[in-house]
Amino acid sequence: MKAKKNLGQNFLIDNNIIKKISNSLNASANDLIIEIGPGMGALTKELKNKNANLICYEIDTDLKPYLNSLEDNKTKIIYKDILNSNIQEDIQDIKYNNLYIIGNLPYYITTPIIKYLVNLDLDVKEMLFMVQKEVAERFTAVPNSKDYSSITLYLKYFYNLEYLFSVSKYAFNPVPKIESAIIKFTKRLNKPLVDKEKYFKLINDAFKMKRKTLRNNLTNYDFNKINEILKQNNYIETVRAEELSEEIFVKITNTIGEIK
Ligand code: SAM
Repeated sequence: MKAKKNLGQNFLIDNNIIKKISNSLNASANDLIIEIGPGMGALTKELKNKNANLICYEIDTDLKPYLNSLEDNKTKIIYKDILNSNIQEDIQDIKYNNLYIIGNLPYYITTPIIKYLVNLDLDVKEMLFMVQKEVAERFTAVPNSKDYSSITLYLKYFYNLEYLFSVSKYAFNPVPKIESAIIKFTKRLNKPLVDKEKYFKLINDAFKMKRKTLRNNLTNYDFNKINEILKQNNYIETVRAEELSEEIFVKITNTIGEIK
């Protein structure tokens, strides 16, 4: 079958990588795995060895000839755009211990899919995604690095993120222009104690213009209060958002009043 570029179809062909990805997901029988974009079933076949319940969302019905034979009493393919799916409804009749989500994601909508899933705030144990290497670096960045940004902190609020390993573009057919990486999201049990909406607004505003100081990005805020927190934690007033940890942003959120 000719791969459809507009659907981000780059199929995995390297068996060692396929096994390595599957082995990185801790699911076992009695669990439920959701796979996003099974494609021609390269990863799906390997995941079936775990003997867990498996639900796959694939947008492209032309892939049916490759996927039909994988369906059985524990494996179901749903031909739907993941962004228009109702996962809770689709899995409500399945009995399982833990929920896992996995996918070699189509590059053109990686971030929308991840944001969509994170926002659903499902009771999911782990999520494992293949994404563009630069995206993996941004999502797992630490303070004082160039990739550290509001999306890093947004995802970190819900999950612990880990960069597991890089994947060469030659593991795919057709060969994409970019290198890839596998990242793991593990549901966080100790979320920061903070007003979620206020915190997300603060981190968005703080990183709005990366080269500006925190003060210049937060002109709508009472900076005297913020400055108190900065001083207490040995930061100078001209600090930039990229230098501050989650802990400091949480402290700031919990100190500032209503945002004007
Ligand atoms: N898992 C296969 C593999 O590793 O060989 C295919 C991965 S390929 C990078 C991405 C897959 O996601 C394609 O099969 C594509 O048709 C599918 N896809 C693209 N957009 C989608 C969407 N919105 N919802 C569900 N599947 C989608």
